[in-house]
Amino acid sequence: MIKRNSGFANLTAGYLFPEIARRRREYSASHPEAKIISLGIGNTTEPLSKHIAGAMSDYCLALATPEGYSGYGDEQGNSALRERIAEVFYKGMADAGEVFISDGAKCDIARIQTLFGSDVKIAVQDPAYPVYVDGSVVVKAAGKNTGAGYKGITYLPCTEENSFFPELSKIKKNTLIYFCSPNNPTGATATREQLKKLVDFANANGCIIIYDAAYCEFIRDKNLPKTIYEIEGARKCAIEVNSFSKPAGFTGVRLGWSIVPNELKFADGSSVNKDWNRVMTTLFNGASNIAQAGGLAALDEQGLKDMKAQVDYYLENGKLIKQTLDGENFKALGVKAYFTGNGPYVWAKFPGKTSWEVFDEILDKCHVVTTPGSGFGPAGESFVRFSSFGHRSDIEEACARLSKFTF
Ligand SMILES: *Cc1c(COP(=O)(O)O)cnc(C)c1O
Repeated sequence: MIKRNSGFANLTAGYLFPEIARRRREYSASHPEAKIISLGIGNTTEPLSKHIAGAMSDYCLALATPEGYSGYGDEQGNSALRERIAEVFYKGMADAGEVFISDGAKCDIARIQTLFGSDVKIAVQDPAYPVYVDGSVVVKAAGKNTGAGYKGITYLPCTEENSFFPELSKIKKNTLIYFCSPNNPTGATATREQLKKLVDFANANGCIIIYDAAYCEFIRDKNLPKTIYEIEGARKCAIEVNSFSKPAGFTGVRLGWSIVPNELKFADGSSVNKDWNRVMTTLFNGASNIAQAGGLAALDEQGLKDMKAQVDYYLENGKLIKQTLDGENFKALGVKAYFTGNGPYVWAKFPGKTSWEVFDEILDKCHVVTTPGSGFGPAGESFVRFSSFGHRSDIEEACARLSKFTF
């Protein structure tokens, strides 16, 4: 028989979100009357903009005509969309040839892991979005699981004490550093000074940064950088991944992109961009042409307005959740809620409780699903994440219930 990929055996039991779903199902089965509201998984809830959906619909119908039909496109993406992304998001900081269109940021991160293979050292923010660690485990770059994390991974605690920006000195030379800003789950958004520190560290130590900017459109503070390429030197040390999922509601449509600057080099001097092009043309066959038509519409004048309105809606939800968590009942429990207004998540600490205890209590008493912070890494213990993705009426109802919460 064929041996199982040992990377899979090395994965820690149960991906976070299936475990949340299991507990929710179990609770529903024993409490059929409970009307459960999910502030758990970071999934978008609001309908697509008519303008963007219309562009996809028109494109799709045209595919049923001889003039409008097209098969495979360029694996790197539609050139008009690559140009438009460079123009809208990077304004001279990256050009169209460095933009690779994909089926989403998570999928790009998984493919990036094939680019660096199993010999690379890894550093992640702790807590972190699970694919950085789990994907590294699957490609056998993470090393053995010691029970306190993987040997090949340097965990960078992001805590209240360091304002959720990690100490970098622990990172070894020549490490692949995953960095997410605005952060999922903490919501922390790195300042220009913080990112400069990160970029300078990477350049001085032969590191490459995988910068996950999936929430950059949520940044409302004009002083905060929306792309890592706003930082001098980043083109020599950073790959950026990004996505239409959260700002345009494309979680189901599937469309994202990555930026791999021409200056980025491996130790032997060869071009990372060139290998990435090889990965995308060999292991990927291009994003859906229908989704790309939607992406183009999202980046025209009307589309940009619609995306901003959708993001504003979620940010307002976040504000309501934060206000609720600042209430007297939570204060009495010593709860501290963090919400920057530049990302969709509220990150809340419940001193003296484990994340899963808080999760179970809030589910039981409020019928609200949250995400246990410990599922994102050891430094997330005692925290839970509240997502602001939801219909306003559900958010209001959840807040009303939460305002009566106590242990
Ligand atoms: C939602 C999310 C993504 C988006 O992934 P897609 O595959 O583009 O849907 C990427 N990174 C983070 C941190 C996310 O939360």
